[in-house]
Amino acid sequence: MTADVKSYWQNYIDGKFVDGGAGRIAVDDPGTGERLAEHACADAGDIDRAVTAAKRCHQNGSLFDMRPVERGRMVKKMGDYLLANIDEIAPILTLESGKTLWEARKEVEGAARYFEYYGNQAETLEGRSIPLGAGYFDFTTYEPYGVSAQIIPWNFPLEMTARGISVALTTGNACVIKTPELDPLSNYFFAKAGEYAGFPDGAINILCGEGAVAGAALSAHPDVNQIVFTGSVPTGIAIASAVAKNVVPCVLELGGKSAAIVHADADLDNFISNVRWGIYFNAGQVCSAMSRAIVHESIHDEVVERVVGLAKSMSVGPGIERTEAGPNMGAMVSEKQRDRAAAMCGEAERVGAVTATGGRKMNQPGYFLEPTVLTNVTPDMAVANEEVFGPVLSVLKFTSDDEAVSIANGTPYGLVGGVFTKDIDRATHAAKRFRAGQVFVNEWFAGGVETPFGGYGKSGYGREKGREALLNYVQTKNIAIKLR
Ligand code: NAD
Repeated sequence: MTADVKSYWQNYIDGKFVDGGAGRIAVDDPGTGERLAEHACADAGDIDRAVTAAKRCHQNGSLFDMRPVERGRMVKKMGDYLLANIDEIAPILTLESGKTLWEARKEVEGAARYFEYYGNQAETLEGRSIPLGAGYFDFTTYEPYGVSAQIIPWNFPLEMTARGISVALTTGNACVIKTPELDPLSNYFFAKAGEYAGFPDGAINILCGEGAVAGAALSAHPDVNQIVFTGSVPTGIAIASAVAKNVVPCVLELGGKSAAIVHADADLDNFISNVRWGIYFNAGQVCSAMSRAIVHESIHDEVVERVVGLAKSMSVGPGIERTEAGPNMGAMVSEKQRDRAAAMCGEAERVGAVTATGGRKMNQPGYFLEPTVLTNVTPDMAVANEEVFGPVLSVLKFTSDDEAVSIANGTPYGLVGGVFTKDIDRATHAAKRFRAGQVFVNEWFAGGVETPFGGYGKSGYGREKGREALLNYVQTKNIAIKLR
């Protein structure tokens, strides 16, 4: 399978494709390590033009004044466009990000699903009437903030953009997207999808640029009214600090160190297949990955043996050659991310963890890390507390239920948690005690676009997905009328 990838991609501002004030960014194929294409690189001036276009679009009412059913139909059409062009989009996403082709197809479908779900919600956002006695008529309305800025990470560049702009457009906000430097190409299709759906100029602006330049300029821009960020904790803090100066609300989704508790009565066949998805999907570069398994001591050795067998069965190599879902995995997104994950494995070994399998860079071109299982991990180790963001499962042991929950809750993060057991009471008790925004019982990643997602603690604040997300993009206005 090959894909024809054009050599240069532009930014999209105010309905036009344009070059970047900061020149070009090189985009490499993580599956080979070779140059794939170049993308326009935005500077602060480009960001300013995009925000100005979005502000104009908001203020002229071309988006906001539309009847919601119309906006909803347009949002759904964006999803239709992605699905109609999946054969073109998925290989480009694979080549720029390193993920397998089947994962890229899944991501395009996942992105389209956001437009379907939120397009359908457009007509459901209603205010209420508040009784104030005979002399008044009072009601509330929801209004968009205006300019929604979104800063996108590289692990799911399509789905993360879709997650934000589907809601922003549904609720009548104009968007400025800052795409990730490592894999910005496939975001081009949102510009095309917006044109196909008939959105007015300025409603969707898509720019790639350096985080410290374009990202920082966007977060500090005085005409941005709301901001959504997914990525690392330090960058989240920088963005939240910048927007605080303009008194602008933000939604932060900052990753996690999520744990599955595996009880002695768990269905182990089911658990092992959940490990495959939980930590090896997208080469482990998933904010809600199952990066820790906290296993009851009585089944620990059997679980380790089976998880090691799973890791060893994975075929790892260029994503473009991996077309079918199965025990296979692509590259990590960059040499830097791969080397960082490998270094964390080495450090874990140095402080007493045992590499049951994997842990090393693979001796071939591209940025591959062996599917890894670390045992003898203890809660005090860095690898048990910090995001590896790679295909690395840390296995810890527990004796009592209380101990398991306390280990699970023992990191600064709190994105998701999982519990595997046949005992529904035990599962419910654990679910209530997890310090996490989402809890999975007997199926990692259970849920979907319909279910709210977001973190406790350093995993961030605000919720994406579900109906909760709509409320991040609107502000409430109360109108009280004094009757004569
Ligand atoms: P990052 O958080 O620095 O980058 C994410 C996005 O933020 C990119 O678009 C980047 O350009 C932008 N950005 C960077 N600095 C900025 C600034 N000062 N102002 C505004 N925007 C800025 O992440 P990274 O450096 O690419 O990856 C580092 C680690 O972050 C990973 O190892 C992983 O642990 C974590 N991460 C988490 C997620 C997630 O989904 N939670 C996604 C990507 C990375």
